Amino acid sequence: MNLTELTIDPLHDLIVQRKVSAMEIAKAHFEQIERRDKEVRAYLQLCPERAYQQASKIDSQLAAGEALAPLAGIPVAVKDVILARGMRNTCASKILANYVAPYDAPAVERLEAAGAVILGKTNCDEFAMGSSTENSGFFPTHNPHDLARVPGGSSGGSAAAVAANMAVASLGSDTGGSIRQPAAFCGLVGMMGTYGRVSRYGLVAFASSLDHIGPFGRSVRDVARMLQTIAGRDPHDSTSAGVPVEDYVAGLDQNVRGLKVGVPSEYLKGLSPETGDNIQKGIDLLAKLGCVVAPISLPHTDYAIACYYIICTAEASSNLARYDGVRYGFRSAGHADLQEMYKQTRYAGFGAEVKRRIMLGTYVLSSGYYDAYYLKAQKVRTLITRDFLEALDDVDIIVTPTSPIPAFKLGELMDDPWQMYLADIYTVTASLAGIPGISVPCGKTKGAPHLLVGMQLLARHFDEARLLRVADAFEKAGGFEVNS
Ligand code: GLN
Repeated sequence: MNLTELTIDPLHDLIVQRKVSAMEIAKAHFEQIERRDKEVRAYLQLCPERAYQQASKIDSQLAAGEALAPLAGIPVAVKDVILARGMRNTCASKILANYVAPYDAPAVERLEAAGAVILGKTNCDEFAMGSSTENSGFFPTHNPHDLARVPGGSSGGSAAAVAANMAVASLGSDTGGSIRQPAAFCGLVGMMGTYGRVSRYGLVAFASSLDHIGPFGRSVRDVARMLQTIAGRDPHDSTSAGVPVEDYVAGLDQNVRGLKVGVPSEYLKGLSPETGDNIQKGIDLLAKLGCVVAPISLPHTDYAIACYYIICTAEASSNLARYDGVRYGFRSAGHADLQEMYKQTRYAGFGAEVKRRIMLGTYVLSSGYYDAYYLKAQKVRTLITRDFLEALDDVDIIVTPTSPIPAFKLGELMDDPWQMYLADIYTVTASLAGIPGISVPCGKTKGAPHLLVGMQLLARHFDEARLLRVADAFEKAGGFEVNS
């Protein structure tokens, strides 16, 4: 039996039945990392001491006859934009290369309190800006299913770690698709809850009105367990919601007969043909499960990319103003005065994509252009949200592709940021509307190596339980086994 290939519940059962210890499970994962991460490069940093300490605590609890929480002993990876106390938090940026986190993000704290074993921090696009993990200030991560391809992004390291059996589950962040798209590229389940469902405290801000922390897992059930653990009100984040957290796991394993599923016509244009085929098969499977499939329209979809990239760059330019060499991380040497120090620090510390976004963001916020760009984008955001709310008055769930294309080759889109932005079309809309979304594996392309296709399910605000229920039924009916 390979301890690194299991999902949470079977692993939990093995621990509780004393067939394996949490220590053995942690060790098996570090050995797998040793073997595979040379080529995948998912991790920026490992924390074996912290992991073994937690694992030994779990083993002692079991020995003392204490009941174990469902995540006890489960190895988890954390994206390097989410603080874990005492560990470096680089955001994959040279500007934060030496920054050490002073506290745990509540998401990390809650996972550890539930017994999870944190293995390390994972690579991503610098400050979570990108769709391929190639914008990391350190090195790109590779897709474990095909090393020549990207794992998606920006949470590519967190996805690759789980897909290569180097963690059972992981945390990512999603601002415009950064959990859902890498989940699709790596054959995993990835979820972004409603805006405010999970506290953003301890998540380094990219675009505050769009940022979320969320889980990756090998199954819908694993993602439900992870989300349930990290969700809920946190007094440190005023935008975290007081809405009670449902028992997502208890809501699984039910039939979805009679649920109304909407398919937006705007989301079926411009797909790669094989993505289109797989999504159609996914929709057919939902119909076979008894869902009532109906066409819907989300008429403002065409404006979503422009709207998202105006709002996220505006917020990013403001959030990243704090990295000026004074308070955080890196400071360039050899400057004549304070202004020069700011300039040189930011020039040397930020990569090309982050600079591009800061420039775009300051431009759309500048006095002559604010009304034409930023304010206009906010109005469009309202229209996009309204599209969703009206559609979701009629249907329970919306089904779309997660990405118009499967995993592309490393380097393929790097010289064409516009093409890279356009590929976010199906994920940014839900982020703008603040509704929850999940990506589930729905098939593979023909030919070798197979490329994986993810299907996105969207629902009303705080309707995570229903989303997970449909995704679970879909997963069980489809049985898409895509682990490497
Ligand atoms: N790819 C999108 C971007 O580059 C989304 C990033 C994210 O969700 N963090 O902004």
